[in-house]
Amino acid sequence: MKPFVYTRAASVVEAVDAASCPGAAILAGGTELLNWMRIGISEPRTVVDIGRMPLGAEIRSDGEVVRVGALATLNDVAAHELVQDRFPVLRQAIHKSASAQLRNLATIGGNPLQRTRCPYFRSESPTPCNKRRPGSGCAARHGIADNHAIFGWTDDCVAVQPSDPATALVALDSTVVTADQNGGRRIAMRDLHALPGEDPTVHHVLRPGEVIVEIEISGAARASAYVKVRERESYEYALVSAAVALDLDGDLITRARIAVGSVAMKPWRLERAERSLAGMRIGSPEMGESVRAAFAEARPLPDSEYKLPLAQNAVLRAIEEAARP
Ligand code: SF4
Repeated sequence: MKPFVYTRAASVVEAVDAASCPGAAILAGGTELLNWMRIGISEPRTVVDIGRMPLGAEIRSDGEVVRVGALATLNDVAAHELVQDRFPVLRQAIHKSASAQLRNLATIGGNPLQRTRCPYFRSESPTPCNKRRPGSGCAARHGIADNHAIFGWTDDCVAVQPSDPATALVALDSTVVTADQNGGRRIAMRDLHALPGEDPTVHHVLRPGEVIVEIEISGAARASAYVKVRERESYEYALVSAAVALDLDGDLITRARIAVGSVAMKPWRLERAERSLAGMRIGSPEMGESVRAAFAEARPLPDSEYKLPLAQNAVLRAIEEAARP
């Protein structure tokens, strides 16, 4: 690990100022940045600790909107009565995201920014990886890619974004509120992450010096559920996951919101299924067809082909669980 300067921000203004300096990295819960530094993924000149800023962890109701401070720990978010009452899908996604110890440290603003779990990206020895070393190639493209993408990949990178809370927050149409030297902006959570596109080194759309201060979630999604499929029942990243939020009139779906996780470099909204499910009754035979049709543009790799039926079934199970009284 290279030497670095440690500085602690006491306010959002101080955090933005410090984070705007070249080579700065933000430390919140610390469950990711320290790993990156240990294996050389990140070599910051300055580490800006925002973990103790006042009011950064507040969770409150503002009319129809629930405002979650970016520094709220995952466990505090899942345990909060507003989340328990209105957003079961988020509570479930958080509970399945990591061990209790990690959830006590990791923050709701930091967790969606975790980087891919691609083993080549996280390798401690030099490996071709365009995301880590631009132009070096993609070892996974023709190597081991069993937990890699089925949507949105390019020949330069076939990795996936692994955050469970981000997948739930995308299904909930949440908004990320940021601060920066121009005052900040609001970004739909579904637009926060970046597909490999022309530059696989880009993980998200945040600019240098831009700090997430809050996540807004509107309305309520009481009929919602999160299904995570993984190789073992705990302490494991998803092979696929599905976050579903339904508006129901009895057993009639009036609106469906569906995000699938660990299938692309961003949680993947199934808009086609959302449209076709509206007006269907829970349990109707057409439901399976609608969900399967929504994967028509999936492009699985030979190693990730198994994810296709797994993701379809995860979505169908999440719909059933969301509709359960
Ligand atoms: Fe690197 Fe992406 Fe290829 Fe993995 S899939 S080796 S992260 S370029």
